[in-house]
Amino acid sequence: MTIPSLTVRNVLKRFSGQMAVDDVSFSLNPGERVALLGHNGAGKTTLFKIILGFLKSDGGDVSVLQSAPGSNAARQASAYLPESVAFPPALTGEEVLKFYARLKGRKPSEAMPLLTRVGLKDAAGRRVGTYSKGMRQRLGLAQALIGRPRLVLLDEPTTGLDPISRQTVYELIGEIAERGATVLLSSHALTELEARTDRILILSRGKLVADDVLSRLRAEAGLPIRLKVWT
Ligand code: ATP
Repeated sequence: MTIPSLTVRNVLKRFSGQMAVDDVSFSLNPGERVALLGHNGAGKTTLFKIILGFLKSDGGDVSVLQSAPGSNAARQASAYLPESVAFPPALTGEEVLKFYARLKGRKPSEAMPLLTRVGLKDAAGRRVGTYSKGMRQRLGLAQALIGRPRLVLLDEPTTGLDPISRQTVYELIGEIAERGATVLLSSHALTELEARTDRILILSRGKLVADDVLSRLRAEAGLPIRLKVWT
């Protein structure tokens, strides 16, 4: 029997009486690449924070590889890349990654191969303050991948990126999934997800209104019109 990497059951979250996440349930299996789509304010970040254990839900439950969100086991097994990553500008890419490797109890020697994989080998000795947004995002991805996490959460990893960085991000997502880890990424860019994800979850005003492969979602009557908002 496959053990899901992530199970979200009937999760609820209210802010001042307003529902931000409304009875959401889904489960992700090892090796799946899944996109979480929704307008601004749909509840994506709130759901991520609950999965990561940064925020307590008002109902339902979440399990990350059979552990409670925020527990040591869940933290060890998962990685998170926020929408915009801030690194100390005076440190070099290599110094940043070695620092994170130590923080995660890994060997600093894991840093250079990861920097090479995200296309930052030549920039490894440069201060991060001189990096472009795409380079910082790739460094963030390298940092998230230290220690081979089994669940990777990426909050809008391609927003505002140049085409080369975007391509690198999707290639890495494919590689992470091929080694059996699960990737959940939030996005507004529906058109670029089609060949790059296995499933799409759509959140609308906190409710999960769709969970399927994109080709079937497109075929459903009326859905292309609603989805157009994100293309
Ligand atoms: P975006 O794409 O803009 O990041 P999102 O889908 O991530 O949006 P959330 O940030 O999860 O949406 O917000 C969901 C709802 O919850 C919104 O109405 C937001 O205003 C509200 N909300 C989120 N965090 C808080 C908070 N700390 N206090 C009060 N309301 C909040």
